[in-house]
Amino acid sequence: MTSPGNHHDELPNSANPEYSLLKREGLQLFSEAGFDMDKIHLKRNASVAALYEDAISKEGAVIASNGALINFSGKKTGRSPKDKRIVYEETSKDHVWWGPVNIKMDEHTFEINRERAIDYLNTREDIYVFDGFAGWEPKYRIKVRVICARAYHALFMHNMLIRPTREELENFGEPDFIIYNAGQFPANRFTAGMTSSTSVEINFKRREMVILGTEYAGEMKKGVFSVMHYLQPVKFGQLSLHSSANEGKDGDVSLFFGLSGTGKTTLSADPQRHLIGDDEHVWSDNGVFNIEGGCYAKCIGLSKENEPEIFNAIQFGSILENVSYDKSSRIPDYNDSKLTENTRCAYAIEKIPNAKIPCIGGHPKNIIFLTCDAYGVLPPISKLSEAQAQYHFILGYTSKTPGTETGVTEPSPTFSTCYGQPFIVLAPRVYARMLAERMEKYKANCWLINTGWAGGKFGKGKRCPLKYTRAIINAIHSGELAQAEFEKFETFNLQIPKKVTGVPSELLHSRTAWNDDKGFNAELTKLAGMFKEAFTKYEDDVDADVKAAGPE
Ligand code: ATP
Ligand code: MN
Repeated sequence: MTSPGNHHDELPNSANPEYSLLKREGLQLFSEAGFDMDKIHLKRNASVAALYEDAISKEGAVIASNGALINFSGKKTGRSPKDKRIVYEETSKDHVWWGPVNIKMDEHTFEINRERAIDYLNTREDIYVFDGFAGWEPKYRIKVRVICARAYHALFMHNMLIRPTREELENFGEPDFIIYNAGQFPANRFTAGMTSSTSVEINFKRREMVILGTEYAGEMKKGVFSVMHYLQPVKFGQLSLHSSANEGKDGDVSLFFGLSGTGKTTLSADPQRHLIGDDEHVWSDNGVFNIEGGCYAKCIGLSKENEPEIFNAIQFGSILENVSYDKSSRIPDYNDSKLTENTRCAYAIEKIPNAKIPCIGGHPKNIIFLTCDAYGVLPPISKLSEAQAQYHFILGYTSKTPGTETGVTEPSPTFSTCYGQPFIVLAPRVYARMLAERMEKYKANCWLINTGWAGGKFGKGKRCPLKYTRAIINAIHSGELAQAEFEKFETFNLQIPKKVTGVPSELLHSRTAWNDDKGFNAELTKLAGMFKEAFTKYEDDVDADVKAAGPE
């Protein structure tokens, strides 16, 4: 029997109501991992309401006026790519693209950090467990278990993973991947190989991830993504993608690739189309499926007028991360970037009214590369040939905008291969080749959209207004652009449409948008040079036509 205010404290783990769906073998896994089962209380897949209560009473969370839970991630408010490591071990070492993205860690150090995380978790009164799936396609999904000390982290992954039914939870069995999140506790800087008190590490052999020294919740979702970037190609022969996806009324699917801040989440939320997902997908032999069960949208500058779907998804169950609020009314202030530019909301995908559930679609008809060019050189829309598509995908040009990565305060140009360099695990050519094969097989059109600066570079011009980017995307989807007349964009050899409904014609060509030939030429030449230099490291990996598809 439970009594009010004293729900689980006197109960042994086996009788804990939030825990009863774990079978004996399930419990065994926890003791084998080193959890002190006589002391800790496991709360497995606790309800949203229960997680709210704990986050409020123990972590200083508050309920916003719209019903969302406002939480804070502490010192780290973005990912820590320099502290992300992959364990070097025999089962995966020949597959992994080792280097600055996938930094090596030895197996012993992983064991030390894993033990440290579990020891820390053992000191906590409550341990939260969330069991869910990654991947909507049953054939290719994996079972993920998150073990953490904060209700906020459990609720975040409740939103971001695919929520199991009661029956699926009861028969969950052994997870395919486990995240040990002890983010409140630091890594020991004297442990071999540690360069800071933050450590985010993945072990493909053990199928585990350990987090120390960062409470930024996004590390968990991107950790699952890394695992999928490894397992999908290696185990299933399928292609994982850093893209959003949506579907039109006729079932035509579009993919939107792009680095952080380029518009994947914003542009895929389209009232005319069904949302499949906003960030992580797999293009399988059956079509496209979302990896996640939720979205993680930027909140900075968010308004009901410009982004109504996202604005309205912020309600009970959603988590506002690092968003400040008015102390008396509890109204969130989306314009306040005092804590970070990277304020976010995580919400279950069902909160988007026209989401497609299950989040699965057919083979894509349109592939859209989003780039946020802070030089204002690339035109707002251009059509790419097959070879150009491969070229741009391998290079992955954009400008980093202040946001997800700690330390970025103004836009800076970057080349991020596969439009997702921080998350790829295998060599870029593996993903690029799979993409090219699929694009050819399914005759997908490819477009490059610059959601960045227009009419001048950062500081002079301004960011391409969202309404024009949306008009461009509508023109792709209506078929208008397939019929359009094109002209050549010099140096980069891109095809620019002469007219797009709803977009001022002078904006379409970046040269005319600038109104400053000399200034434009200088930036054009500079950017082309940067492309050429950045591509040299991939030249040996690609065919001659791809090599020739870059700027002159
Ligand atoms: P992440 O991978 O970090 O989730 P993302 O690709 O999903 O990034 P968004 O969250 O969609 O990026 O961020 C785009 C931001 O840029 C939003 O805040 C949006 O309001 C703003 N924005 C301004 N102009 C445009 C534009 N023309 N197109 C798209 N987004 C724009
Ligand atoms: Mn996004």
